[in-house]
Amino acid sequence: MDAIVPADPYADSYLDGNALAGPLSELFAVDVTAAVSRCAHCGSTGPVALLRVYPRGPGLTARCPDCSGVVLRLVRGPDTAWLDMRGAVRLAVPLAD
Ligand SMILES: [Zn+2]
Repeated sequence: MDAIVPADPYADSYLDGNALAGPLSELFAVDVTAAVSRCAHCGSTGPVALLRVYPRGPGLTARCPDCSGVVLRLVRGPDTAWLDMRGAVRLAVPLAD
């Protein structure tokens, strides 16, 4: 029996995780979109670049493409950035040799 996957009612309102590259480059010295995250909600893993990024603020909300759980949120103020990653069990960041 095949699993029934509910349709995403917001399918046309998100960007892919590459939309996080610019904003996260202010915080990290590596390209975080190349990192692999593990969703705290469903356990799926995949590149940050494949998260679904909802840009209609405040800030950016990145959701898991498998379960729609919030993996990370990034809000940038004039002199402070808030990064909430409680929806990620881990982030595996590839390093240069
Ligand atoms: Zn998930």
